[in-house]
Amino acid sequence: MVASRSARERKAAAQAGPLARVRIEVGAQEQFVYKISCTECRAKGDRAWSAYRPGEDNGFMAAMDRWTFHLSERHPGSDAPCLEFLAAAQQRLHERRSARPIPPAQD
Ligand SMILES: [Zn+2]
Repeated sequence: MVASRSARERKAAAQAGPLARVRIEVGAQEQFVYKISCTECRAKGDRAWSAYRPGEDNGFMAAMDRWTFHLSERHPGSDAPCLEFLAAAQQRLHERRSARPIPPAQD
């Protein structure tokens, strides 16, 4: 399991590009939890910006989507393979949002 986890880490790190630091932890349900942080951005409390969100889906796809949005907003000139999938990530975000109930329109 350890070997497969570090192989996944390397694969995710390659896709996330040079600004990312990728760590994978094993969660309570034995699932892989992807923690992608930015080597350039500091969030509150001097901690690195991270795609990890407590209590949310932190599987590969969800974490990589958040990371892709971060790159496209903050580091648009960066050269990361995941930016190739930005349109697909936006489409997934749109689908998640439109799955929520829409309040009645006001005029
Ligand atoms: Zn950043």
